[in-house]
Amino acid sequence: MATVLESDIKYLPGVGPKRAELLQKELGISTFADLLYTFPFRYVDRSRYYSIREIDSTNAYIQLRGRIVRMQMVGEHKGKRLIAVLNDGTGCIDLVFFQGVKWIQEKLKVGQEYVVFGKPTIFNQGYNMVHPEVDLATEDKLNSISALMGVYSSTEKLHTSGLGNKAFAKLQATLLDKVLPSVEETLPQYVIDRKRLCPLKYALRNIHFPESVQALSKAQERLKFEELFYLQLSLLKQKLVRTNGSQGVVFKTIGSAFNNTYRNIPFPLTGAQKRVLHEIRADVGSGRQMNRLLQGDVGSGKTLVAILSAMMAVDNGCQACIMAPTEVLATQHYNGVFKYLENTGVNVALLTGSTKTAERRRIHEGLENGTIHIIFGTHALIEDTVKFHNLGMAVIDEQHRFGVEQRAKLWSKAAIPPHVLVMTATPIPRTLAMTLYGDLDVSVLDELPPGRKPIQTVHWTETQRGQLYRFMKEQIRAGRQVFIVYPLIKESETMDYKNLEEGYMAITEEFESPEFVTAVVHGKQKPENKAFDMDLFVRGKAHILVATSVIEVGVDVPNASVMVIESAERFGLSQLHQLRGRVGRGAEKSYCILMTGYQLSSESRKRIDLMCQTNDGFELAEADLKMRGPGDFEGTRQSGLAFDLHIADLAKDSPILEEVRRLGEEILEADPYLEARENAIIARKLRDARLEIKDYSNIS
Ligand code: ADP
Ligand code: MG
Repeated sequence: MATVLESDIKYLPGVGPKRAELLQKELGISTFADLLYTFPFRYVDRSRYYSIREIDSTNAYIQLRGRIVRMQMVGEHKGKRLIAVLNDGTGCIDLVFFQGVKWIQEKLKVGQEYVVFGKPTIFNQGYNMVHPEVDLATEDKLNSISALMGVYSSTEKLHTSGLGNKAFAKLQATLLDKVLPSVEETLPQYVIDRKRLCPLKYALRNIHFPESVQALSKAQERLKFEELFYLQLSLLKQKLVRTNGSQGVVFKTIGSAFNNTYRNIPFPLTGAQKRVLHEIRADVGSGRQMNRLLQGDVGSGKTLVAILSAMMAVDNGCQACIMAPTEVLATQHYNGVFKYLENTGVNVALLTGSTKTAERRRIHEGLENGTIHIIFGTHALIEDTVKFHNLGMAVIDEQHRFGVEQRAKLWSKAAIPPHVLVMTATPIPRTLAMTLYGDLDVSVLDELPPGRKPIQTVHWTETQRGQLYRFMKEQIRAGRQVFIVYPLIKESETMDYKNLEEGYMAITEEFESPEFVTAVVHGKQKPENKAFDMDLFVRGKAHILVATSVIEVGVDVPNASVMVIESAERFGLSQLHQLRGRVGRGAEKSYCILMTGYQLSSESRKRIDLMCQTNDGFELAEADLKMRGPGDFEGTRQSGLAFDLHIADLAKDSPILEEVRRLGEEILEADPYLEARENAIIARKLRDARLEIKDYSNIS
C-alpha cells in the first residue's frame, strides 16, 4: 500500500525537480518519509541573544542582535565578497556573503537593527559569520521566535541553492502539515504504555519544532527507543530463524584428541578460557549450528581456545580449519601447534598462498580423504579447489580482515554447515557488539594469563629521538628485541613506503651490525624475503624488526619487549592497542613508545593520552566509539553491515539499547512468529523497507 509518505520529494510544495535532485544527491532524501526522518542534529535556543563580546571558539550556531554599521565589497574574482559589519554595542563582527550579494546589498540597510543567526568562525584573529540568516528586528520577528530551533545538517551546495537551515525548516513545516494527520502509530500500544513513551505524531512534530525542552526530550526518547527497538527485534528475529531452522553437527564426545592436547598444555588455562570452552562445548553439543564471536584482548590466549575447539571436532570424526588473515600468522599458528600434539595422533597441515604445487596437491588430497584433521591457513583455504572430507568446525582469527562473502564461502564446504568460531582481538563495546553481531552469540576472554606485567606506554616527540635510540640500545644489550612500526594507508601508500624505507635506513645507520641486526618486513617484499626476515626476528637472530602495521598483526615473540610506533597520531585507538599487544608477552617489563611530531590535533592528543593512561582494551574501545562514532569503528565497514541510525547513538544510548533488547527477547519468547494481534504493528514494521538492514544472515 503506497502511502503519502512514499511520495517523491519533488512533489512537496517548495521543492520541485531541481531541488529534489539536490536533496537526493546531498542528503539522500528522495521521499517524504526520508525528509520527515531527517532530524535536526542539534537545537539552538533562539530565545537568547549572544553579545558579540562573548563569542568564543565554540562552533555553535548563535543568535545576535545589532545594527549594520558598514557595508563594503572586498576581494576579487572568486574571493569577491560583501562584508557587512554588525555592531551590538559590545563589539563588531563581519557578516560575509559570497553569493546573492546584489540581493543582500539591497536588503540590508546601514543603521538598521537586525536579528542575525549563524555560526561564528575564526578569521584573521577575529570572528566572522559566513552567510548568516539575517532578518529585520521587527516587533513581529522578535515575538514569533520559538525557543528551540532545530539545526539540520547541510552542505555548501544546499546552502548556496537557497536551502539553508531556514528554508529547510520551512520544508519540514510544510511536510508536517501535509503528512502528520495520516501518520500511523508504529509501536504497539502496550509498549507505549509500559515504557511511557509519547505518541509518534507528537514525537515527529516536536523533534522538528519543539514546543519546549521537555517536549523535545520526550520526542527524542521515543524516536530513539523505536529505532533501536526495531533494529534489535529484526536481529533477534534472524537469530531465531537461524537457531530454529539450521541444523548443526552434533559433537557427542570429548575424546582423546581434546584430552591429550589439554594435558600437553604446560600451564593451567585461565578461568576465562575454561568458561569460553564450556560455552563452545554446549553449542556444539546442542544440535544447532554454532555461530559464536569470541572477543579477547591481545594476549588473552585465543589461540588455545581455537586449537581445543578444533580438537572437539576431531574427536567426533570431523575436520577443522583455522584461518588467519596473513601468511605470517597462519604459519605461526601452525608452527605453534606441534608442542600440543604429542600423543594425540592428530594430523595437521598448512595451506597458504605460497604453498608449493606438489605440497598443495598432497594437502588437497589429504583434506578430501580426511587424513588431514586440522588445516591451518589463509584465504587459500576458501578457494574452490579446496574440498573437505567432513568439515565440522571453522575458526576464523582476526575476523575483520575477512569479508562477509569469504566467510559465507565456508558454508558451502560441508553438507551440514560447520560450527563457526570467529575470534577478534578488537574489543567491541557491548552496545556495538549487540548491534553488529546481534545475531551471534558472544563470548569474552576477559582475563589475561597470570604474570603479565602491564606495558608502560610513553609519548615522545621527534626531539626525543636520540633518547629513543639510547633506550633501544639499552634494551637490546639487555637481551630484548624491538618492533618499529610505520603506518601504511592505501591513500598515501607511496609516501608511507618512503617513510618506512627512510626509517629503515636511519635505523641501520644508527644500529650498526654486527652488534645490531635489523630485519624489515612489508607488503612490497617478495614473500621469501619477508619470510626470511620475519624468521630472523622470531628466532631472535634480529634485534629490531621494522615493519608496516598491516601485515604483522598477531605475531608472538615473547622476547620482544619494546614497541615503537612511528607517526602514532595516524593510528586509531584500537589499532594502537593492537600493536601494543605485540609486546608484554614475556616475563620482562615491556614498553610502548608512541612517536609523534610536535604538533598534534586535539583528537590525536586525546588518543595518545588515553593510550598512555590505560592498558584495558575494552576501555579504549569504548573511548574510541565515543570519539569516532560507530561508523568508523574498526571492522564495521569491512564487515559489510549497513545500518542507518537516524537518531540513536550506539555510544550514548546503551541504556535504551539494553532495555529494547530485553523487551525484544520477551516479546519474541511469548510470540516468536509475531502472530498476536497486539504485535501486528511490529510484524508489519519488520517487513517494512524502512529498516534497511542488509543481509545479516551472512555474517558469520
Ligand atoms: P591472542 O589472544 O592475542 O591470540 P595468544 O593466543 O597468542 O593470544 O596467547 C598469547 C600468549 O599467551 C601465548 O604465548 C600463549 O602461549 C600464552 N598463553 C595462552 N594461554 C595462557 C595461559 N592460560 N597461561 C599462560 N600463558 C598462556
Ligand atoms: Mg591471536
